[in-house]
Amino acid sequence: MTFDLAQLNEAIRYEGGISRRLFLAYAASLSALPWIGARAVGQTRRAAFSNDPFRLGVASGDPTDTGVLLWTRLAPQPLEPNGGIAPENFEVAWELAADESMNRVLQRGTAVATPQLAHSLHVEVNGLDPNHWYWYRFRAGDAESPIARTRTLPTAESSPPELRFAVASCQHYEAGLYTAYQHMAEENVDLVFHLGDYIYEYGGEDNRVRKHAGGEIMSLADYRVRHSQYRSDPLLQAMHARCPWFVTWDDHEVENNYAGEVAEDERVDPATFLVRRAAAYQAYYENMPLRKTSLPHGPDLQLYRRARFGRLAQFNILDTRQYRTNQPNRDGICDINAAASAPENTMLGATQRRWIESSLLASPATWNVLAQQVMMGEVDVEPDESRRFFMDQWPGYLRERQRLIKFLADHQVKNPVVLTGDYHANWVNNLRFDDRRSDTPVVATEFVGTSISSEGNGARFPKDWQAILAKNPCVRFFNGERGYVRCTVTPHEWRSDFRTIPYVSRPGAPVVTRATYVVESGRPGAELT
Ligand code: FE
Ligand code: CA
Repeated sequence: MTFDLAQLNEAIRYEGGISRRLFLAYAASLSALPWIGARAVGQTRRAAFSNDPFRLGVASGDPTDTGVLLWTRLAPQPLEPNGGIAPENFEVAWELAADESMNRVLQRGTAVATPQLAHSLHVEVNGLDPNHWYWYRFRAGDAESPIARTRTLPTAESSPPELRFAVASCQHYEAGLYTAYQHMAEENVDLVFHLGDYIYEYGGEDNRVRKHAGGEIMSLADYRVRHSQYRSDPLLQAMHARCPWFVTWDDHEVENNYAGEVAEDERVDPATFLVRRAAAYQAYYENMPLRKTSLPHGPDLQLYRRARFGRLAQFNILDTRQYRTNQPNRDGICDINAAASAPENTMLGATQRRWIESSLLASPATWNVLAQQVMMGEVDVEPDESRRFFMDQWPGYLRERQRLIKFLADHQVKNPVVLTGDYHANWVNNLRFDDRRSDTPVVATEFVGTSISSEGNGARFPKDWQAILAKNPCVRFFNGERGYVRCTVTPHEWRSDFRTIPYVSRPGAPVVTRATYVVESGRPGAELT
């Protein structure tokens, strides 16, 4: 008997919506799976746990103007292969309140945590007021989760005066502590955008700040444990508890520099790689506050999506990994040659590209944001006369990049802003059809957020920085420290504060605003304030 994740998800809908027919079909399908104990079938346990089952914390995500997704995952022993929990169903209660002390409960329900989804819960709460803060918690057996805060977005027609959010990416667990999240939690932001490299796949190494459990992750069990280890971090948990997140992935949620069906090592058979990708995608879904629309189907997972903050901002959250063609010039860094300029190179894939174009055309928003992974600025990173660009980034997919920039210009898309992760450094880039032609008009502005911890302590300037800046007039700012970007958006102005910390090798690093760049509505390009 086949067993379909969409059907499963129908079956685990929260109280009131549960379909008995689907639940029974799901339960029957489980009986065909040899690794499920007989008591799991159609039964749900209300258990007493030997240890706190909420050790991975709670989270919320993908808010709309009427609802939000609440997440948790039961794992009393996070680093054990199954989270230290029996392969059975467990009933979990949730409640959502109007106040922090959970006195005025507005909605409550129950959901079933199943071993098929690593005892994760993805509860879609609807019927909420727009532009409101709420608090929520879960209960399983005798255990209660921490109380966390979340919010809805303003209605699509409204004109909110301000939006404050933070941009994060690249949180290599071994490379450093998550002090950046400790500071972010005090910023009182409405939202967080996480732009990828939420986990890294590498095996544990000695003599680092922390150590990955196990070797390089390959199987579903491996990916689950890795997510558990990252999620055990109290500072990461605390930031998830502050506000809803919009997450998207980059490469390391699966494997470094993978491209669509092509593994980092191109000799790996795509069919073999897709088995690994399916495991990684499933673990990603299980551990992220994503809606049912992102339930994986084998090696596929729908992640690109849109969010509207009233008429102020529209966010197009992209997936530049799943549908990619292979990187040109696989040695990774070279001039933009014929292979990089080949018209068939794509990062978005045709379907996503059509989606984003129609999304931008229909947008009434003042600010139109592409929240995505890799740098769009065509930055020549060679300090001498030769030229070298990273082929894993947009310069390796030059024609599609040009098509996108031309589309923004031709259709006069209002105030395009690109938000980027991956680089482990801050950049501010003024984007043109061809960034190497500084005599042409600026079309969009790119803010690249640095890493939370990846590459360790970091430094403000690499060697040869001045020479690289001189060669690249599109670059307005560079900084190689750790941190995050705090964005304050009004109808008149976009403000990006580059919040940085000097070290991640020990706790307690202070945060400073290393620089602030502003975009004025109607005038693309960033100015230092
Ligand atoms: Fe990274
Ligand atoms: Ca990356």
